[in-house]
Amino acid sequence: MKSKSKQTICVHEGQKPDEFRGINTPVYTSTSYGYLDSEERLYPRYFNIPNQKVLIEKLSKLENAESGLIFSSGMAAISTTLLSLLNKDDHIIFQKGLYGGTIHFILEDFKRFGIQYTMLASNAVNSITDAIRENTRIIYIETPSNPLLSIIDLSEISRICKSGNILSVIDNTFASPINQNPIDFGIDIVLHSATKYLGGHSDISAGAVLSRKDLIHKIWGTALNLGGSLNALMCHLLERSLKTLAIRVAKENENAQKIAEFLANSSNVNTVYYPGLTGNEGHETAKKQMTGFGGMLSFEIKRPGIYDFQKKLTLIRPSMSLGGVESTICAPSMTSHRHLTKEQREQDGIKDNLLRLSVGIEDADDLISDLEQAMK
Ligand code: PLP
Repeated sequence: MKSKSKQTICVHEGQKPDEFRGINTPVYTSTSYGYLDSEERLYPRYFNIPNQKVLIEKLSKLENAESGLIFSSGMAAISTTLLSLLNKDDHIIFQKGLYGGTIHFILEDFKRFGIQYTMLASNAVNSITDAIRENTRIIYIETPSNPLLSIIDLSEISRICKSGNILSVIDNTFASPINQNPIDFGIDIVLHSATKYLGGHSDISAGAVLSRKDLIHKIWGTALNLGGSLNALMCHLLERSLKTLAIRVAKENENAQKIAEFLANSSNVNTVYYPGLTGNEGHETAKKQMTGFGGMLSFEIKRPGIYDFQKKLTLIRPSMSLGGVESTICAPSMTSHRHLTKEQREQDGIKDNLLRLSVGIEDADDLISDLEQAMK
């Protein structure tokens, strides 16, 4: 039988039979499990209860990974992964332009753990290779990045890492496993904030890490100490959400392309950041490694000001977070990147008039009309 398509994996993979012949995986709410006749010690914080396992099977299949862990937030997945793989005096390289929460974690906590880091000022290949030191253990990327949708060549990162015996880690949240599978390009570890596309309805906080069995085992050793696992009820909700992931993302890709083209032709907009636009710096690389360009885009608006513009929108909701079925918008300077100083933001190219749009599954023309009226 030919390998299953992502739509089919989303619906069926990992599903466990119900003794009453129900078609959904039962929700196993227990936090306490018998141990006398089994080697396995089931416990939520050990990341091994049935509803966690179902999710991991589905997500591993979607990302072409051997295994994974499911967390209570994206930051729990990110912080646990990095803290499990880095020791005191190790060095890690971060690409230019990352989710603000990740930057905050690095700036606030790495020094206390004695972890050395370089935040790149440019993502050019020679800047990356120049930053490598004898003690470099990880190169960490986010492509497309939050909020400027910059694109990094996955094969190139994998090649650099393999030649230096360095691990490659990607935050694949913006692409989702539907649009991009970094492991196919040689990336070692894939992270997701499942709060975004995987959850998709703005009602779940979760995270995931997917990789080879040996690396997941290593991350698990720290994960059970840090304790950021996800409870069974949330796992159930996330499994339900994942069933529609492929069709949600397909519609969001289509809508975002139309909206990006509308914005690119608007005299009210300075720059549009969307890898699906032919003029975008990352377009050719994105074409090589993504099967869709995603539902996220950013733009710099000339007028009205970002506060007034968001107030005037009637359909698109000014709110934090992203990846829901409903379109939402935010100004990174007021939300995801507000913890950074103005200088830090400017260094990363995040201007005060930048807006980040998470395109939902509504009708694209309705969304364009809303943007149009708010610009007047
Ligand atoms: N990675 C990216 C790209 C994000 O946008 C976010 C949150 O906005 C995170 C990670 C963190 O995820 P969470 O809020 O689920 O901890």
